[in-house]
Amino acid sequence: MAGPAPSPRSRPIHYICPSCHLYLLSWDQPTQSVEMFHKVGLWEDFWTREVRLICQYCLGATDILDQRLVELLRNRFGLAPTGGALRRSLP
Ligand SMILES: [Zn+2]
Repeated sequence: MAGPAPSPRSRPIHYICPSCHLYLLSWDQPTQSVEMFHKVGLWEDFWTREVRLICQYCLGATDILDQRLVELLRNRFGLAPTGGALRRSLP
């Protein structure tokens, strides 16, 4: 067996809502597999173009996403970032 992996980033990255602590999503970079555990949206900062996950339960925002994950979510789930206000009134 090989020794301990030099990179701790080889494991899936987990995204958890900072407000309600729902487990939202996991992303495994090497295999490009994404698992969604809860309904999420994407929100893009108007000025910086940084994209975050939005928890649809409490509208809490996660840390800034890697651009590769944003692309994956767009291609696989059809998620497109929305800019502007976090809160949108439903029709
Ligand atoms: Zn939440």
